[in-house]
Amino acid sequence: MIAGQKRGIKKIIVPEANFKEASLVHGVEILGFYDLTGVVRYLEGKTSGIEMHMEENEKILEESERILDFKDVKGQDELIEAVVLAAAGGHNMLMVGEPGCGKTMIAQRIPTILPEMTEEECLEVTKIYSISGLLPNGHTLMKYRPFRAPHHNASLNALIGGGANAMPGEVSLAHNGVLFLDELAEFSRRTLDALRQPIEDKKVSISRLNGTHTFPSNFMFITAMNPCPCGYYPSAKCKCTDYEIVKYRGKISGPIMDRIDIQKEVHPVDFFAIADQKPCCSSEELRLKVKKARKIQQERYAQESGINCNAQMTTEMIQKYCALDPDSLNILRETSEKYGYSARVIHKLLRLARTSADLDGEEKIRQKDIEKVLICRELDKSNSKMVVVK
Ligand SMILES: [Zn+2]
Repeated sequence: MIAGQKRGIKKIIVPEANFKEASLVHGVEILGFYDLTGVVRYLEGKTSGIEMHMEENEKILEESERILDFKDVKGQDELIEAVVLAAAGGHNMLMVGEPGCGKTMIAQRIPTILPEMTEEECLEVTKIYSISGLLPNGHTLMKYRPFRAPHHNASLNALIGGGANAMPGEVSLAHNGVLFLDELAEFSRRTLDALRQPIEDKKVSISRLNGTHTFPSNFMFITAMNPCPCGYYPSAKCKCTDYEIVKYRGKISGPIMDRIDIQKEVHPVDFFAIADQKPCCSSEELRLKVKKARKIQQERYAQESGINCNAQMTTEMIQKYCALDPDSLNILRETSEKYGYSARVIHKLLRLARTSADLDGEEKIRQKDIEKVLICRELDKSNSKMVVVK
């Protein structure tokens, strides 16, 4: 279909069942027919075949509104601010909190604040779901960014892709959307190691006897974990020792943790305290902010090949785009010394500060941006309180 469009073909005839998928391609008139008799009648000029199907096309465009919205989330303003920061700069994020505190509810809503998919992105996603046999009836076009949340027991094939037919895995089903791993500490080391390549390369290659299949896997990586084995640290309910907590958290150190920019604690909300509270913002309002910040980044990195957002800045680029005034530099230095931040963590903080300034349309990183991103490393801070000799 896309090949036809590129060759300048203006009219394409497809079976009725493929009509919705096909009509996503712009600039080409798509004619859907139930059988060959219909095609013959059309070619003989006996029916137009067009009006009937245009109507259906309209219907697809007006597909039902999204059900999920951040306006349903109350009492998590600070966390939502961190989510917007992540979405605006393409930063990966870890949420740490006790079971049932709303981590999944937040993660599920992240696709609703990412910019709408372009036509090309819709087609990429639709293609992957089509190959996987996952196009639901009546919703043949994947117009919304996908959200995938594989269980920690999912097989490597299911996650990365593979099997006898070299099918796309969860990392590809999340392409252009969000991949959410809940209970990160429960995933096996082998699985976490296997995720490294798709996160880094934004594509996966699956070798089979009949050749190598490559699927895209460019997703926003969001993950969550309990703060300790029982799940309730630092509340009085927690009976874990510091040693047990450090050991538990140590399971996620290494390749995956290195790719996490934002670590945020999630606190359960008190239903009665928030009953009268106004919601933070609607998804639509948040998405506008994200779009504005992304536009600034696209313009800034127009000349830098392969760089689209702040999260992808190289060390040289950080020096170029993340200059700090003396006061901000002092705050960053003091905090880094206090918690023993490595150069790698400091670079992450500077990239985040750049996004914070972009969200406000500011050219220079301000002191308030540095203060804002320093509260985005809560796991590091919490770990530093553990009294354990490693
Ligand atoms: Zn505990």
